[in-house]
Amino acid sequence: MVRKGLLGYKQSVVSRAQIRILPPALVHQIAAGEVVGRPSSVVKELVENAMDAGATRIEVDIGAGGLSAIRVHDNGSGMSEDDVVLCVHPHATSKIQTFDDLDALGTFGFRGEALASIAAVSRLSLKSRTPHDPGGTAVVMEGSQTQSVQSVGCAVGTTVEVRDLFFNVPARLKFLKSSATESAHIAATCLDAALANPRTRFILKKDGKAWRDYLPASDFSDRTLAALGDDSLRSFSGSLNGVHIQAMLSAPERARTSALGLHLFVNQRPVRDRSLAYTVAHAYGSVLPQGRYPTGAVFLTLSPNEVDVNVHPQKSEVRFVHQRDVLETVRQLLSRRLGQSNLSAGREPVWANHQPPSASSVSFASSNTYAEVAYASKEPLKLAALEGHYAPSSSAVSDLHGFMSLRFLAQVRGLLLVCEGPDALYVLDQHAVDERIRFYHLHESYHSHSIKTQRLLFPERLECSPEDVEYATSHETELTRLGLECTVLGGETLVVHTIPALAQRTPPRRLLRDALDELRCQGQRSFGDTIDTVLATMACHAAIRAGDHLSREECEALLVSLDNVQAFNLHCPHGRPVVDKILFADIEHRLGR
Ligand code: ADP
Ligand code: MG
Repeated sequence: MVRKGLLGYKQSVVSRAQIRILPPALVHQIAAGEVVGRPSSVVKELVENAMDAGATRIEVDIGAGGLSAIRVHDNGSGMSEDDVVLCVHPHATSKIQTFDDLDALGTFGFRGEALASIAAVSRLSLKSRTPHDPGGTAVVMEGSQTQSVQSVGCAVGTTVEVRDLFFNVPARLKFLKSSATESAHIAATCLDAALANPRTRFILKKDGKAWRDYLPASDFSDRTLAALGDDSLRSFSGSLNGVHIQAMLSAPERARTSALGLHLFVNQRPVRDRSLAYTVAHAYGSVLPQGRYPTGAVFLTLSPNEVDVNVHPQKSEVRFVHQRDVLETVRQLLSRRLGQSNLSAGREPVWANHQPPSASSVSFASSNTYAEVAYASKEPLKLAALEGHYAPSSSAVSDLHGFMSLRFLAQVRGLLLVCEGPDALYVLDQHAVDERIRFYHLHESYHSHSIKTQRLLFPERLECSPEDVEYATSHETELTRLGLECTVLGGETLVVHTIPALAQRTPPRRLLRDALDELRCQGQRSFGDTIDTVLATMACHAAIRAGDHLSREECEALLVSLDNVQAFNLHCPHGRPVVDKILFADIEHRLGR
């Protein structure tokens, strides 16, 4: 006996099939998980709908990090009764009709699945009214089931309220972080929306209290300045090969070790794209050390059919049809503009309100610093003993018994320490030497829980994101162990009270900024490696620089100190060699002796 199976094929009555077609409700719940990852994804979708409806004022209220409630109210076009009933169903959209419409998409939404997905994992109610209707319509849903539809009195526009998110997906609840972290993600989502839509007013309330209010601005630049609160940002714009760029970017000295402070937008969509972030950093040229990213915002506008936004469930990634060309155009445009602003002209770019460091602020720390650092070991290390451990190919210093045994001759070009050894002239890079020494001592004292700190007479404030504050609060022990004691002042300010004594020449807020960026962007690195990077960055900031004049005593102190570094003292923590040598034999040969 046979009967038609689910797909219309013949199946035996006693089926041995292991495979089942999932019921539509379950399919939908699984798909919903891709769109709605956490409360901030709900906010993102609802805010995008409000923007698509032409709203000029959007209010977002959240309770308990969005877990108990998210309410988004807009003054956009609203929906008729028929549309209110339809909009919460899967694949219900007014934005596209055919696949080809995707090529010229002018809206944020297009898949018609956001409201349905949110409704599948929450208790959702929506009320809406168009300007043509005397009253509005409200629909109440619970886990995809329509509970009621009724007429209501309401203002023109739409209000969506999402309660008890993931009440029917307990597994997802387990992955959510504290309400402070979830609130921080929501704040970041609203910030991106505000940056991308400068003319719209965005009001964000948290647990009934006003949290953010982005007033309407005339353009991207004004909104970015107001929203990022950084008036050192400079505006750049230009067009090339069909790509238009508007950017508000920081001076290189404000650059950070991660791209967290760099907001990128493609056709007004916030995107996370490493290669684009890298390209923006790359456009600064040599004024930006490798691995650093400027802060600010970059808005790219190009023909919609040059971009595929349908590659990520939350539409936070895009693909360019001509990826390489677009990136190269971005690089060219920005580097040209940055160059014109004199920014990439040299080590000290002319940046309107940037003061080049004064002579006193770059002068070498007194030799007391070295005494204080307590380069204690009396036993100079025999460099030859290091060879098995670490042997640079040129073996610049093999046969040499410690840097202390070199006769210091001169500091040249404000950069190089030239010394005489038994067989050669030794040339050391003063920055790399000092960086290695500082790194070593920071590293040792970090591991013995004894980083020496200096308490600031005037604690410094760091304006940062709520995520930073949340991170700093939950990682207080690690930060203190790094010598950075800080307290929280409100939701977006950290106050630094101590810094490592070995990093005393560096602005405290920069030390904290870098440490937070490195720790938060740990990625695939182990915690130990991340800490090493934080310490290396501290050492690099604090170390003497090219151009710092050193006395003979200071140069000799450096050589002694380098001997006391127990490992890898032939390279700076970033891998550059510290020393090179020119053999007397070679010189004599060249001179025909
Ligand atoms: P999409 O945005 O991809 O079309 P959604 O599920 O987010 O899908 O929304 C479905 C439809 O509901 C939208 O196409 C739009 O017509 C309507 N809609 C949703 N939110 C709003 C809103 N805030 N104002 C007006 N219409 C809305
Ligand atoms: Mg949508």
